[in-house]
Amino acid sequence: MPVLPQPSEPSIITLPPRTATVAYKADVLVVGGGPAGLGAALGAAWTGADVVLVERYGFLGGNATVSLVMPLMSFHTQRQLPTASDRTRLFPDDHGEGNPVVAGALKVFLDRLIKAGGAIAPSKSTGYTVPFDPEIFKLVALDMLDAAGVKFLFHSFASGVLGEYEPEAVIFETKSGPLVIAADAIVDCTGDGDIAIAAGAPYEVGRVEDGLVQPMTLMFRMVEFERPEFTAYIQQNPSQWRGVHGLWDLVQKASMAGDLDLPREDILFFGSAHKQEVSVNSTRVTNVLGTNVWDLSYAEWCSRRPEVQPDLEISCVTMFPGSKDSTLARVGSKCWRSETRLVLGDYPVDWRGCGHCPQV
Ligand SMILES: Cc1cc2nc3c(=O)[nH]c(=O)nc-3n(C[C@H](O)[C@H](O)[C@H](O)COP(=O)(O)OP(=O)(O)OC[C@H]3O[C@@H](n4cnc5c(N)ncnc54)[C@H](O)[C@@H]3O)c2cc1C
Repeated sequence: MPVLPQPSEPSIITLPPRTATVAYKADVLVVGGGPAGLGAALGAAWTGADVVLVERYGFLGGNATVSLVMPLMSFHTQRQLPTASDRTRLFPDDHGEGNPVVAGALKVFLDRLIKAGGAIAPSKSTGYTVPFDPEIFKLVALDMLDAAGVKFLFHSFASGVLGEYEPEAVIFETKSGPLVIAADAIVDCTGDGDIAIAAGAPYEVGRVEDGLVQPMTLMFRMVEFERPEFTAYIQQNPSQWRGVHGLWDLVQKASMAGDLDLPREDILFFGSAHKQEVSVNSTRVTNVLGTNVWDLSYAEWCSRRPEVQPDLEISCVTMFPGSKDSTLARVGSKCWRSETRLVLGDYPVDWRGCGHCPQV
């Protein structure tokens, strides 16, 4: 395996001191331009604050646009029993039409995205998810930051914090050398807790018994997907599809013939904002942590090496129903990490914390 191995007994050296350019002092500094960063930056700017948003890539959206994690899953409270009426719509069938729990900036953003033709409104036919176009997502997000007066800096990776008693500024690594941005309030929207951890916040990783986190995945989009052909196959083979995943027999047949080498026994297709497009999830990399550079490199190697990616594309094109004339439109720019550090606060924001906080 060509991935540089992690040293088992690393020797540590002290780096020379360095200088940095003080780039700005803001009321609010938001680090990370995913959905959380967008909400934080827009919300703060709409109150009249002077806001800076900094992102390591050259566009906004986080997992949604970088890793093609799509559609946006349901944000409605009620769940209903799965309906068997249309088993081939390629959206989850276990999400109900309860009350939306997304409001504020992200609700405004979704409304704008739908109006711009970049998403389909949640309804029964989308399983209450929001299928979206990642490129229009990027445009609308940037346009909304512009309109709100948020200043942004791209291609800047947050590497540390400054401040004697509490974080007062963040250090960013850039092609122009290190920059420092100070702020009265710093909002960590990196998804990994990079700023909080650098500032000394306590955190946990993985499940209690073995520290393992959820696997990583590389997603891709296929265009010119023929839905009627897919539908006909599922109608003839009703045991081969459940919600958004299946095709077990075809995967097994292709694997036994040596045509396919998937680290999973099924394949997932998600409907998109475009009729002849599907978003595909067919990889699974286990025992890796998204904040470990060696693990990240290994996950990319597992998902992109020639034996996997072209095979997968060719296999999708030749063997899966609906994909005879399909082409691979885009592969995620980065493996999608589901879970890394869990920053510990007053109470967990998950099922464990529900009883402890009236807002959860
Ligand atoms: C198992 C699982 C499955 C999921 N499936 C779905 C799904 O199908 N559909 C769905 O809608 N959601 C899904 N989600 C949830 C979704 O991925 C997250 O809710 C969403 O990505 C969180 O947004 P965020 O802005 O907090 O983080 P992210 O989307 O990760 O955004 C973080 C941003 O910060 C930037 N960043 C990170 N570190 C730095 C740094 N040091 N310096 C500068 N910038 C930095 C990143 O580039 C990125 O733009 C799933 C989550 C899990 C755990």
